[in-house]
Amino acid sequence: MKTLLLNKNEIDIAADIIKKGGIVAMPTETVYGLAADALNGEAVAKIFKAKGRPMDNPLIVHISDIKQIDMLVAEFSDKAKKLAEKFWPGPLTIVLPKSDIIPDEVSAGLSTVAIRFPSHPIAHELIAKSSPIAAPSANLSGSPSPTTVRHVLADMDGRIDAIIDGGDCEVGVESTVITLTEDVPTLLRPGGVTLEQLRAEIGEVKVHPAVLKSLGKGMKASSPGMKYKHYSPKAEVILLRGSEQGFCEYIKENSDDKTAVLCYEEEKDSFKNYIVLGKRDDEVAHAHRLFTCLREADEDGYTRIYAHCPRAEGIGLAVYNRILRAAAFNVIEV
Ligand code: AMP
Ligand code: MG
Repeated sequence: MKTLLLNKNEIDIAADIIKKGGIVAMPTETVYGLAADALNGEAVAKIFKAKGRPMDNPLIVHISDIKQIDMLVAEFSDKAKKLAEKFWPGPLTIVLPKSDIIPDEVSAGLSTVAIRFPSHPIAHELIAKSSPIAAPSANLSGSPSPTTVRHVLADMDGRIDAIIDGGDCEVGVESTVITLTEDVPTLLRPGGVTLEQLRAEIGEVKVHPAVLKSLGKGMKASSPGMKYKHYSPKAEVILLRGSEQGFCEYIKENSDDKTAVLCYEEEKDSFKNYIVLGKRDDEVAHAHRLFTCLREADEDGYTRIYAHCPRAEGIGLAVYNRILRAAAFNVIEV
């Protein structure tokens, strides 16, 4: 298949492809998404094939108008309305009971559907000109999510109908996912909208144990995506937890030419091979750069990456959740 590269003035072409049952990578404010008509099960199935995604991992449905929600969900509760009013359009996904028009391919057979209203103007226009769009991240299943067109091309060229170039994605990590279908609202995936912001809006919000830990045997995944090893570059990622001195000493003793350090701007002079994640206290920059840095390590031929264990608060929680999975939960105390 030849993959068309489109620009922001060619969204009509992309909308036509979607309406005819094709699949298109689109920029959003979080990461690039791989879009299909959410109401067309056959089109949605192509997403799973292109990504090599397990069929039991459901997709998020993206809307461009709050009015679209009535046909997609069985119930739009008061808490859901509060969250929507505060955080949409933006990087928040809300899991709700689904309506009958959601194809099984989207919900992976669950009785719920995940809904997001993105703020990116290109995503907005594409949805408005076609239909509600089902989209996961536009990467091969398991690899770091794409935050630039270059990343999408690396994974998807020849596998999808088109890519719309929208430059770099602003947030850099996927949306926050909260479910309102359990007794207490539960955070399933941290992202650009923080846990602290959610609690300020609707009160109690639980954190699903899988956000910070590996799912133990017999533990239920409320969000099927939690089951999989995720976001991983080819290089092995190892997290080091402890003081900066411990970090530097461990790396000095355990590195070779193929080892890179994912480090802060302020400490880069301590290392020979480094990739800068951002300034030490700039967690927004860490989220923005994380996936780019992981892909960069592969492009530069490194086979091992040492990284700091992030602070599990604010947007740092999203960085921690992603890098912990990229590292397959390999954390060393230093
Ligand atoms: P991605 O594929 O990277 O866009 O991630 C989508 C995430 O949303 C995955 O972790 C899914 O498991 C999760 N998700 C989608 N739909 C649902 C749902 N109905 N219930 C719980 N989690 C969901
Ligand atoms: Mg993904």
